[in-house]
Amino acid sequence: MDTDYDIETLGVRAGIERSQFNEHSEALFLTSSFVFDSAAQASARFKGEEPGNIYARFTNPTVTMFEQRLAALEGAERCVATASGMSAILAMVMGLLSAGDHIVASRSIFGSTVQLFNNIIARFGVETTLVSPTDVSEWQCAVRPNTKLFFVESPSNPLTEVSDIGALAALAKASGAWLAVDNCFCSPALQRPLALGADIVIHSATKYLDGQGRVLGGAVLGKRELMDGVYGFLRTAGPTLSAFNAWVFLKGLETLKLRMDAHSAAALELANWLEAHPAVERVYYPGLPSHAQHDLAMRQQRSGGGIVAFDVRGGKDAAWQVVDATRMISITANLGDAKSTITHPATTTHSRMTAEQRAAAGIGDGLLRVGVGLESVRDIRNDLARGLDALGHPARGQDTL
Ligand SMILES: *Cc1c(COP(=O)(O)O)cnc(C)c1O
Repeated sequence: MDTDYDIETLGVRAGIERSQFNEHSEALFLTSSFVFDSAAQASARFKGEEPGNIYARFTNPTVTMFEQRLAALEGAERCVATASGMSAILAMVMGLLSAGDHIVASRSIFGSTVQLFNNIIARFGVETTLVSPTDVSEWQCAVRPNTKLFFVESPSNPLTEVSDIGALAALAKASGAWLAVDNCFCSPALQRPLALGADIVIHSATKYLDGQGRVLGGAVLGKRELMDGVYGFLRTAGPTLSAFNAWVFLKGLETLKLRMDAHSAAALELANWLEAHPAVERVYYPGLPSHAQHDLAMRQQRSGGGIVAFDVRGGKDAAWQVVDATRMISITANLGDAKSTITHPATTTHSRMTAEQRAAAGIGDGLLRVGVGLESVRDIRNDLARGLDALGHPARGQDTL
């Protein structure tokens, strides 16, 4: 499909391959293998002389449709779908790096990604140096002759720090390394890292690409020659995306732009309200002018996204009170769902860090993270107001129900 179409159109229509039945909606092909017309055809398929499906660890038509649609949305030559976001990162590393290579990564990345780099990949002779997400000079200092990969997540979790993707891409290029961006928080509806100079995009499709908290999946995207290496690992090692999950994601992508715009609009309204609340010490949201990288975020992203973090006055007890006072928002560490979620990072997602590490990362005991869903903003706000108001600092200018 012509990639000159707008993102809304690509999300609905890119990548469709119809079967002999000419179905309108994307078909779900639940089959582990494919039948050949003859011995000669089987041989030609295995030799790669004839295109076509062989076995679902290699390709499946529903998975291929998802890959083509996401590639169109990210403006990538090729997409390789994986069983989860973590297996996307694993497939990238296993497909592209070798023992003796070095990674420079942002310190503010998903916890399991840090574990993967520090505890698993390290055993195979690939070392990682963690640096600031916002200070490019730290990346420059960390570069070694064997640095092969830069890895960043922007905006970061939970503090929504925004990294300068263009500046990191330029430094990576000058250093002979690839820049990979985990685009989970924005999705291609709000940010297209490849257009900003990145070489690789990583997705946890589990989050906004599904958008309704149903299935796990991931993807690696970029230039064909890089993705061929990633696919080589995947087809052999097997953390392939299931056809059913690919079908769910195809349907999710149809509403991606609509949902991301709605998440962002609600998050901005909520962030503004939180910033004015006396029980709130500080709000972290890229769409707010008070955000440390607001200008960069507004250049790099279409809008602020759906994640808002804030420090409650009174530390852990106060933060837990706000969580426990909610009656609607789900208390869960997941995000990117139609249902709003709330997390206390210090005692959940970031509890494996020491208190000193958390303090250094800016993750205070009063910090809460909200994944703003698609309920009405008024209802989300009221659910948070119950706990915040009870902290003894009545909110100003709030609706009374
Ligand atoms: C959830 C998440 C991942 C991991 O994805 P899974 O699908 O859970 O494996 C990676 N990066 C970010 C930013 C995430 O939020």
